[in-house]
Amino acid sequence: MSSYPNLLSPITLGTITLRNRSLMGSMHTGLEETGDWGRIAAFYAARAKGGAGLIVTGGMAPNREGGVFPGAAGLFTDRDIANHRRVTDAVHAEGGHIVMQILHAGRYAYGKDCVAPSAIKSPISPFPPRELDEAGIEKQIADIATAAARAIAAGYDGVEVMGSEGYFLNQFLVAHTNRRSDRWGGTYANRMRLPVEVVRRVRIALGPEAILIYRISLIDLIPDGSTWDEVVQLAKAIEGAGATVLNTGIGWHEARVPTIATSVPRAAFAHLTARLRPEVGIPVITSNRINTPDLAERLLAEGMADMVSMARPWLADAEFVAKAASGRAAEIAPCIACNQACLDHTFSGRLTSCLVNPRACHETELTYPPAPVAKRIAVVGAGPAGMMAAIVAAGRGHDVTLFERSPEVGGQLNLARRVPGKEEFHGLVAWFATMLRQPGITLRLGAQATADDLSGFDEVVVATGVIPRDPGIPVEPGARVFSYIDILNGADPGRRVAIIGAGGIGFDVAETLVQEGPSPTLDPALWRREWGVAAPWDARGGLDPDGPHPHPAAREVHLLQRKAEKPGRQLGKTTGWIHRASLAMKRVRMRGGVNYERITPEGLWISQGADRTRQELLEVDAVVLCAGQEPERGLSAELHRRGLRHHLIGGADVAAELDAKRAIDQAARLAARL
Ligand code: NAP
Ligand code: SF4
Repeated sequence: MSSYPNLLSPITLGTITLRNRSLMGSMHTGLEETGDWGRIAAFYAARAKGGAGLIVTGGMAPNREGGVFPGAAGLFTDRDIANHRRVTDAVHAEGGHIVMQILHAGRYAYGKDCVAPSAIKSPISPFPPRELDEAGIEKQIADIATAAARAIAAGYDGVEVMGSEGYFLNQFLVAHTNRRSDRWGGTYANRMRLPVEVVRRVRIALGPEAILIYRISLIDLIPDGSTWDEVVQLAKAIEGAGATVLNTGIGWHEARVPTIATSVPRAAFAHLTARLRPEVGIPVITSNRINTPDLAERLLAEGMADMVSMARPWLADAEFVAKAASGRAAEIAPCIACNQACLDHTFSGRLTSCLVNPRACHETELTYPPAPVAKRIAVVGAGPAGMMAAIVAAGRGHDVTLFERSPEVGGQLNLARRVPGKEEFHGLVAWFATMLRQPGITLRLGAQATADDLSGFDEVVVATGVIPRDPGIPVEPGARVFSYIDILNGADPGRRVAIIGAGGIGFDVAETLVQEGPSPTLDPALWRREWGVAAPWDARGGLDPDGPHPHPAAREVHLLQRKAEKPGRQLGKTTGWIHRASLAMKRVRMRGGVNYERITPEGLWISQGADRTRQELLEVDAVVLCAGQEPERGLSAELHRRGLRHHLIGGADVAAELDAKRAIDQAARLAARL
């Protein structure tokens, strides 16, 4: 019997039976905007082939004013229908089902033509919206219904109406954004009129058989958000208006509470879906931070939902369900919820991909075909770059020997996984270890490869990583100085600490030093308390009226950098604010524009400004160096001296701004060519 009887059991939505209960949630990939519909079809078809029960496309604008940004993809013309038909045909050919998400951004639309219930600018957009009049509202409803009809013409199995995350329909629901006094505002019955009317008209446009998903906001996480009674009232009305299934939406985009980042506990919001389920007669889908088949199975087995939505996990592994169904769950590349190659790319106008799977959204361009000639390949260093190179090369039929001087694989990932809030990295290291156990790879742990060891191979890949940079600050005898490696390996620097360098690792070290007791990421109740998340049945919008309750910091920490800018500006676009907010809650003192003078037994002497005359002592017990890295190229230099050709990848190639995303991508692309 399968380990996933619930996840793999079929479910009937209206008249359409899905082969299992996994939903690939909507993601904006940027593929549609490339206009390369062959590539788009390949992306979705790979997920259908990999077993996704039902796929939801990225959000499609119903009209120009509702697009998330000017030029955002939609289904506006008959030519668009033919393009979308290529996607639906490709998915159906793989035995899958697919619905199109209709996304009207309202005041979140990043353009001057944006419209909303009231003319109230959002805090995450510079564009004030235009308040819609009666005719304007009717136009929006008609455009959404027309988009639904076009979706059916394009072969979709239905649509998802995006009603959560603070987008247009959600904006009508709450007084925070709806100050109208006509029949579309005021009482809750009036405020919910628009979403309900949209669903009614979309159902008419779709006909009786197609799937109509309504994504409902179960917890807004903004001031003046919906109460739980209002959520339930809306859910019932949406069911009455013709929805087939309700999908869970969590938090508005402007919320100051993280909802999908890696530090959010797994399935942190599934209890809300469970609470809604008995209130309605249609199936409900749960969502957010669910990334393993075991967790999806447990949620279904415990009756918390009828289906499980996972979005980013389908970027990390296009064969998520197929691997689970064939007893290969350990081979599923895990989404670590880092956002680095998906949402961070989206928000900087780049095509989405995935840190652990560089093929995501590059299916037609990055392929791993069988090697024409099987070669003997040596890879030196089992960090992310070396491991990925070995796995891809062996997968193509090469005979790979992977040398690692330490007794375990993982490299810098082994440091990352010790940071509170980064527990997902355990799963990533475990996945790499599983994938390295394939017949084509000989793993030599505890083996420091020398140039002599490498002379007999057809190809040599050097992925020896990085060494911490010594910032060269004068240190007086008796002063205590640690490297970030010491701290992440458990060294105790005392109660008062200054951290030199506020890059990704400086922030990680600060998080580690202020943390005391269990990581909130592993304790949902504790995490909710830390971030001020209340039950929406106790507090409107699910925001604790008393705000966050952070556990007191374990240490007094200064986080410093030389650049005269706000520390953390270089962190991920969608996650930097979380790291800054988290450290601010723990009273970490973050300072930019600092010169380091010397480290003494009393602490760290710093100054500010070019003349460095006014010096100040930070009285700390120890200083931790997080001043970046240099490439470790000793072996590469020796190979050069002997004239041995080799490939340099990862941090050993370029250490500046190194992260696992670049290392893994570079390794995969090299191994695809060897
Ligand atoms: P980094 O991001 O390059 O930061 C290095 C820090 O050291 C900067 O704050 C820099 O600021 C400072 N610095 C550089 N040279 C210095 C010198 N000579 N003296 C004193 N300070 C110096 O490097 P990292 O923090 O070591 O991280 C390595 C890579 O891993 C980065 O690309 C990072 O993005 C990635 N990473 C990412 C995450 C994540 O959450 N996404 C987490 C950890 C690591 P000033 O020059 O202004 O002083
Ligand atoms: Fe998940 Fe990170 Fe990949 Fe995005 S880039 S899908 S968050 S692992």
